[in-house]
Amino acid sequence: MLNGKLSLRSRHVPGGLFFGPPAWDAPVWPAHDNANGSPPTELPTTSASLRELLLRLKLTSQDLWTPALLHQLTSPAIQDVVLNLIAPQPESILPRVLSEFELPRLVAGLNLVRRCVSAVRTRLAIPREEGELRYQWRKAAKANGFTIHSLINRYPLGHPSILLRSLLGLKLQPGASPADLGVVLLDPMTCWLLGCWIEFGTQPQWRPVELFTHNATPRVIAANIGQSLARVLSDAGISHQNRQCIINGMMAGQLVDPEKTVLEPSIRTISIRPVPIAEDTVDCIRCGWCVSACPAGLNPAGLMAQVRMIDSLPAISAQEASMCIDCGLCSYVCPSRLPLAITIHSLKAAVGPDHRPGVPA
Ligand code: SF4
Ligand code: SF4
Repeated sequence: MLNGKLSLRSRHVPGGLFFGPPAWDAPVWPAHDNANGSPPTELPTTSASLRELLLRLKLTSQDLWTPALLHQLTSPAIQDVVLNLIAPQPESILPRVLSEFELPRLVAGLNLVRRCVSAVRTRLAIPREEGELRYQWRKAAKANGFTIHSLINRYPLGHPSILLRSLLGLKLQPGASPADLGVVLLDPMTCWLLGCWIEFGTQPQWRPVELFTHNATPRVIAANIGQSLARVLSDAGISHQNRQCIINGMMAGQLVDPEKTVLEPSIRTISIRPVPIAEDTVDCIRCGWCVSACPAGLNPAGLMAQVRMIDSLPAISAQEASMCIDCGLCSYVCPSRLPLAITIHSLKAAVGPDHRPGVPA
């Protein structure tokens, strides 16, 4: 009993929750549908030509968290390129799976970006618990002069503003570009797609997607971009009838209708779960758990209380709300089951982008 308590406590740390690497079923990795293609005759060599390539390949999408590479190629003074191999959601396994099956293409894509932006250093952010992932990258890091950084994966460490603070001690405002701080932050999918283009001259029509269902280990499948999620799920033998479908993570993802949603390049995970039984909320008991869990150092309970005063919201509160990174941790830990994250998200939307710190009104 005592041991159980101790181990539970050791998995909850201020500023985030610790999750070990999830188990997963090894997929049969699909053959590349463009494997007969030939390498391009010319590779981009500058930020401008890389931008042109990204536009041509339609690599422009970004999700709630990860800024598109295209939008980071704005500064001429890039010092660091960081490949972010920290999973953006606690249950995510994609960085590990891509590294296991597609390492040479990841390396090719990473090298292309660092040459184009003339980066001084190239860093790999890897969860400390993922010994195998580190091992996979060790040889490539040595051969290419990459520096490996092993970081304790406290969710949401994968978020750009949290990662840059842990890795380089830099303060990145939510929604700002890492390039403003002289950093390009790369997600493994973009790196992989660039690596595929370098090898085959075209990109695959599919992307790897993580599937999560209750009572089953996660797995990765290849799914065609543009296909409905309902079709992706039925091809994988998963029923979504009378269940909820959430894309891009259980903590901060989005509830969608799989019949009406198609697989976008930015959809990395699909989770299917039984419709939860609604829990009654009760009044805030001022336990402070949301405050101690918030990685952005906010007071979610205080912000929620202010939503009722939106017309007369003090500027300081508007500024505070705009620092929220939508990680969902406050809602996750709240014993009163208050909808903190979604309320603060609406508050942010209501006060608008002009209230972001550093953005002139
Ligand atoms: S207030 Fe925002 S940043 Fe803080 S825990 Fe809640 S969702 Fe995360
Ligand atoms: S975690 Fe919930 S109950 Fe506790 S202080 Fe925050 S809002 Fe109130």
